[in-house]
Amino acid sequence: MPTATPTPVRLRRPAALSAAEVDALNERFEAAHPAEVIRWATDAFGDGLCLTTSFSDTLLVDLAVAVDPDIEVVFLDTGLHFAETLDTLRRAMVRYGLHLRVERPDGDAPDLFELGTDACCASRKVAPLDRALADKRAWLAGMRRDDHAGREYTPIVQVDRRGLVKVNPLAAWPAAEADAYAAEHDIVLNPLLGEGYESVGCWPCTERPTDGADARSGRWADSTRTECGIHL
Ligand code: SF4
Repeated sequence: MPTATPTPVRLRRPAALSAAEVDALNERFEAAHPAEVIRWATDAFGDGLCLTTSFSDTLLVDLAVAVDPDIEVVFLDTGLHFAETLDTLRRAMVRYGLHLRVERPDGDAPDLFELGTDACCASRKVAPLDRALADKRAWLAGMRRDDHAGREYTPIVQVDRRGLVKVNPLAAWPAAEADAYAAEHDIVLNPLLGEGYESVGCWPCTERPTDGADARSGRWADSTRTECGIHL
């Protein structure tokens, strides 16, 4: 019988950056190109840094491997991804030869059909990410302020609930510049983007194409849920 209990999270570590240092970095990077932010992170944390991606596209991957071709790229394989997402991962491997780390849920992890979305995300996303970050000092994520209203104030540099430094190089990048970079660098795209899904997650919770300006409106579309928990 599956349980809702995810793999235990280790205790929060002392933060790698002080609040004053975080503020100064955010001021420094507010108008910086994402590559400059990534360069700072790789210099500061070396192999204590990894990148997380859900393979909606390879925008962050493309920027990061240009700075550090060996950066560890973490994919959380929930067991509930679209075939298109797994194929995007495959094409990214062919294109970039990634140093890929795949984290999967425990064998008895529940899914949303058994215990609901809270338990499903906790076991299939949050706990695997905790494992992936256990030996890290910092991580890169692809959050953008224009993803949806709840991400409007996403900082470029922050300290997460573990005490790790979380870096969001794309947070403040203007959409027009990001789109121009994506076109110029011919980044790998999940084919579902072309079908109107501007944000692609697990298939049971990416219920319909994007509706209006909120890129994540198709995710958990029939509930008040907006985040899976890995960015909280
Ligand atoms: S997004 Fe949905 S299917 Fe994926 S882990 Fe969360 S609840 Fe489960």
